[in-house]
Amino acid sequence: MTRVFSGVKPTGHLTLGNYLGAMRQWVAVDQHRADALFCVVDLHALTVEHDPARVRRLSRQAATLLLAAGLDPELCTVFVQSHVDEHARLSYLLECVATDGEMRRMIQYKEKAARERVRGGSVRLSLLTYPVLMAADILAYGTDEVPVGDDQAQHVELSRDLAVRFNQRYGHAFVVPRATLPRVAARVMNLQDPTSKMGKSDDVGPGVVYLLDEPDVVRKKVMRAVTDSGREVVYDREARPGVANLLEILAACTGGSPADLSGVYESYGALKADTAEAVVELLRPVQERHKELCADPGYVEGVLRDGAERARAMARPIVDAAYRAIGL
Ligand code: ADP
Repeated sequence: MTRVFSGVKPTGHLTLGNYLGAMRQWVAVDQHRADALFCVVDLHALTVEHDPARVRRLSRQAATLLLAAGLDPELCTVFVQSHVDEHARLSYLLECVATDGEMRRMIQYKEKAARERVRGGSVRLSLLTYPVLMAADILAYGTDEVPVGDDQAQHVELSRDLAVRFNQRYGHAFVVPRATLPRVAARVMNLQDPTSKMGKSDDVGPGVVYLLDEPDVVRKKVMRAVTDSGREVVYDREARPGVANLLEILAACTGGSPADLSGVYESYGALKADTAEAVVELLRPVQERHKELCADPGYVEGVLRDGAERARAMARPIVDAAYRAIGL
């Protein structure tokens, strides 16, 4: 059976981008068709300035939201990265096959490091090595496919490179994974700045819709989305990124295609109103289930404990074999 691995980083509240770009496909497709693992990657949250209590709280919230969105522990494995030592163990081995030049070329590193410097902070070494830990997350499970948003495609590519290099040098140890991207909304953009992605780590701003935003907050954010001075609703990502983003969000919510939908609307106002309602309806069941799960913290804890146990059992033999192969 195909092995699938993917994760979310508890650096902020989960967003509509996380949901449309990744989680929705995990729920609707991946958990049914594959032997799938979904992980709250809390070690990755330590790569930038963090508050320990907040990371712990956000990890729990992310896990609860994964279940609220519809991941079913009977069908897939849901767990927290730091509960399984194999991720850190394997990451070190992979640091011994990766190069620093390779790391410095990663687009997300360049962007995030620049942001940290602008804030006057220092850049943690772990921000540079982050993609290696991500490769370890993936390779530790013999993963075939990694369903992610477009922003993570380069990191999955690096995981492939490291797997191939390790296998060539030390003998076959890893399955070579590949990224699978959603057909629409692989990159949901910030509503206030449609040239950059809607990221949860951004400062809480009106351009980011969070999965737990109240309906009225969602409506307000969508209605205030930046478009442009044109009037006609056309689907053109380059020339009209704001409108294109709304069309993609609406298409992802309703199942249509952005180009077809552009013909339906005569004004930006109508497009925004329908998009807002579609997002509210999309989030409603997730928010309801989230509330129920919050009332039963023991259940979530049990799911994560079982998940970690299952994950550990899958990863340990693969990581042990890699240790032997590399000469330890
Ligand atoms: P972030 O911190 O940027 O929210 P994560 O690394 O936690 O991202 O991402 C979890 C998943 O959500 C990844 O598969 C990522 O590709 C996807 N994702 C994140 N932001 C977006 C977005 N704006 N559009 C589409 N997919 C996204």
